[in-house]
Amino acid sequence: MPERRLPRIALIATGGTIAGAQTETSGSGYKSGALSVDTLLEAIPSLASLAQIQAEQLVNVGSQNMTYAVWHALARRVDELLRSDAVDGVVITHGTDTLEETAYFLSLVLPHAKPVVLVGAMRPATAISADGPRNIHSAVAVAASAQAKDRGPLVVMNDEVHYARHVQKMACGGVDAFDSPNAGRAGVVRGNRVTFYGQSGIASAAAAKVFPLDQLPATVWPRVDIAYACADMDGVLIDFMASQAQGIVLAGVGDGNATDAAVDALMNAARNGVAVVRSTRCGSGSVGRNIEVDDDHGGFIAAYELNPQKARVLLTLALMSRRDRADIQALFDRY
Ligand code: GLU
Repeated sequence: MPERRLPRIALIATGGTIAGAQTETSGSGYKSGALSVDTLLEAIPSLASLAQIQAEQLVNVGSQNMTYAVWHALARRVDELLRSDAVDGVVITHGTDTLEETAYFLSLVLPHAKPVVLVGAMRPATAISADGPRNIHSAVAVAASAQAKDRGPLVVMNDEVHYARHVQKMACGGVDAFDSPNAGRAGVVRGNRVTFYGQSGIASAAAAKVFPLDQLPATVWPRVDIAYACADMDGVLIDFMASQAQGIVLAGVGDGNATDAAVDALMNAARNGVAVVRSTRCGSGSVGRNIEVDDDHGGFIAAYELNPQKARVLLTLALMSRRDRADIQALFDRY
């Protein structure tokens, strides 16, 4: 019988805690993005039974420093790799802080059926019981799985698989920091075995070529700011944002709401041509149109399930080619 060929997985490292090193393994202080991809992989000899790995280092940063320039380079590189017959799937190691934003961005621009899996770690590589090696093993198992195809980019953390659209970092500590609060996890990983719960069912902007990758600017993207609502908020910061930005996302209280003063400032921004999207600071739920706030009157766009940071990603891409409110709302209705 011919020997079965192992899937060929390209691993792109970008930094984060998964590549973090401590000065003392029992302490909690560390520097993220300190170790190279080769050092990370040396700790996971089990990968050889799962896949043929080719690894490269794109950048080595804490993901709080993720930039549009890195996103642009990353999307181009993943696209190039997946176009090749020599690559069956891609794994991206990433800091956990903005991992959900990178995953969602990639889901909007990458038009590939082959699996793309983002993975991070909550404990640095040198910590006792570091979670990175196991998470990378699980991520490679998912990228090597035929079931992972046609689901858009996935996130693997703590033996769980999540869709890019739904996943969120819920806690700033602990290995179970990630969840998909509205939709639930997409699947689980047990050792080498990957189980998905049902079909993806996620509409793909990338498949529909809504945001063509080759038209993405390399560095300067539309400016979109996030306004965080709270008690007794005035309109001063929103007025300032409106003087600088093409878009504002409201991280609103409750159902994407804010004080009368803040809503007035947002209406003023919208009248002056700024695209205003209402999301919620609640962490889950869906902000619908015209429920508590009159979007038609205010000229606002409703974010539905997208949290503020993901709404910002979609609005930024939308503003590269669209100004019409109804067109932008249609994107939020769908993606
Ligand atoms: N702030 C760092 C980052 O996002 C460390 C957090 C982490 O990776 O868990 O890269």
